[in-house]
Amino acid sequence: MMNEINAQSNYNQYPFYNGELGLIYSKKNSSFRIWSPSAKEAQLLLYKDGENGQPFKTIDLTKDINGTWHTTLTGDWKGKFYVFRVMINSKWNNEIPDPYAKAVGINGKRAMVIDLKDTDPQGWVNDKSPAFSKYNNAVDAVIYELHVRDAGIDENSGIKHKGKFLGLAELGTHSKEGLATGLSHLKELGVTHIHLLPFFDYASVDESKPDHQYNWGYDPLNYNVPEGSYSTNPYDGITRIKELKQMIETFHKNGLRIIFDAVYNHTALTEKSNFNQLVPGYYYRHKQDGEFSNATGCNNETASEMPMMRKFMIESILYWAKEYHIDGFRFDLMGVHDIETMNIISKELHKIKPDIILYGEGWTAGDSPLPDSLRALKKNAWELNGIAVFSDDIRDGIKGSVFTAKDRGFVSGKLGMEESVKFGIVAACEHPQIDYSKDNYSKHAFAANPGNTVTYCECHDNNTLWDKLALSMPDASVEDRKAMQQLALTIVLTSQGIPFLHAGTEFLRSKNGVENSYKSGDDINAIKWSLKKENIDVTNYVKQLIKIRKEHPAFRMTTAKQVAENILFDQHVHERTIAYTINGAALKDKWETIFIAFNGSDATKEFSLPDGHWKMAFDRGAEIEPASGKIQLKKYSAAILYKD
Ligand code: CA
Repeated sequence: MMNEINAQSNYNQYPFYNGELGLIYSKKNSSFRIWSPSAKEAQLLLYKDGENGQPFKTIDLTKDINGTWHTTLTGDWKGKFYVFRVMINSKWNNEIPDPYAKAVGINGKRAMVIDLKDTDPQGWVNDKSPAFSKYNNAVDAVIYELHVRDAGIDENSGIKHKGKFLGLAELGTHSKEGLATGLSHLKELGVTHIHLLPFFDYASVDESKPDHQYNWGYDPLNYNVPEGSYSTNPYDGITRIKELKQMIETFHKNGLRIIFDAVYNHTALTEKSNFNQLVPGYYYRHKQDGEFSNATGCNNETASEMPMMRKFMIESILYWAKEYHIDGFRFDLMGVHDIETMNIISKELHKIKPDIILYGEGWTAGDSPLPDSLRALKKNAWELNGIAVFSDDIRDGIKGSVFTAKDRGFVSGKLGMEESVKFGIVAACEHPQIDYSKDNYSKHAFAANPGNTVTYCECHDNNTLWDKLALSMPDASVEDRKAMQQLALTIVLTSQGIPFLHAGTEFLRSKNGVENSYKSGDDINAIKWSLKKENIDVTNYVKQLIKIRKEHPAFRMTTAKQVAENILFDQHVHERTIAYTINGAALKDKWETIFIAFNGSDATKEFSLPDGHWKMAFDRGAEIEPASGKIQLKKYSAAILYKD
């Protein structure tokens, strides 16, 4: 219903508060401040428990400057729980935890007064992010996308704290087949960054019964607090923080960096969200009729362009980066956010961590009232500073559209996908040999530099690559599909841009054909560690590819100019194949020239090698005939050769 409070124009007249909001704690006193310009009264309620009982103290907040309400309580309030409520239109809204809360009790219902110093595990002050390459450019990263619970919940994980932050901090774990699992597996694989699906406090899983539901966690409840179901004690506000920090510290000690999955584009609740109970309507975009707009497909979309929402996002992200030593952020449905906010976030984060990695989904799940030209969409990627976007062009070029199960891609023999894969090989940069009109989606180079592009073929969304190959190639043999999977991963790990792998792809992870497994449970989602033994050849293959990528700057160019000048495609290859050379010498690579060939067809194909004596670096089903300057590639296979 349209009324004065819901009219977006009115929100622009709300005052901006520039200071610190929420709780400021010391042993001598606790100060509380909320921003609620439309409230007529506001209260702070204190509880002894995180969910039950009556408040033992209720304090009327004093109206203060710029739409804020405030009180200071003398004494040490550590360990007490608190909520706020405000009166709007003569009615008390629901009690809500502090939107800025840094600690909460069970299920995030009430905020908790804590001293953040109590949350630091031993050695935290000396925790340091490991280097991930000589120059720590974003393209030097190899990102691995994992869900906290999926990593260890399988009975064969050998992990003690299954499904918990602490489980991912266990070293030396192995399956009953004797192969490394969890953190030890990640180290062995050689990836540099672990992107964990949401580990802020989300709404969908009852933290008191974490084994009763499953969720990926894209349903934000308390933005500045870790999720309780991943902790060993979700009732105590300190435990989840401390255990998450312990996990991060262990990652860092073992050479791995951590990426936070940021979901600021919507809130799990709409009318009843923390934001909306304090300041009805303000934090969201609205349609012309005053209803909540829904570009996220999750009932609402936040309004990053509104000054107090922008402030919230920036402060929240900086808090995670500083307090939890986060090394990168992945922005869910980044196309919802405005470009200006994203660039401020990037600038502030790079100030505190110059080698931080930022990337996001340059799309939305529906229409937004904020014009396209203002939002962080893939087509506007050139306006984003130091933030990459996912390339769905190469993702679907490799394996077929995620929206049509039966659709095939380059690795499964579909005709006409060569240009979409080549578009990905050059990381969506300008290249003189690409016919952009034949690219599946973009039709133009969207990246200013390779670091603006995330190169991938699979993530937590949609079918796993292994399931996609089975659904789209039902008559192909397992051996052939294995070859296709390896070809796909070879393309990802040799292409320019920031490579991104979905957990378990290195041993043919399946979700039994479930397309959207966001709440499917452990049966579908858990990493089944016995697969590693079954497909150890694929795991070793991927490990070798990662090693080659990390050793060779030729696969990690940093400028579009380098890409245009040093990659040369063979324009005379058979259909369903791609071949190109990289001028390694120009990139200070120890391999003077590199020759890469992909055969996505179902028959052996012959490729002509450029002049000279070539050595085989890596192959899957290639036969070289050096005398003739030809190389034969079996169906669905790849080869990397070099001259030194
Ligand atoms: Ca939760």
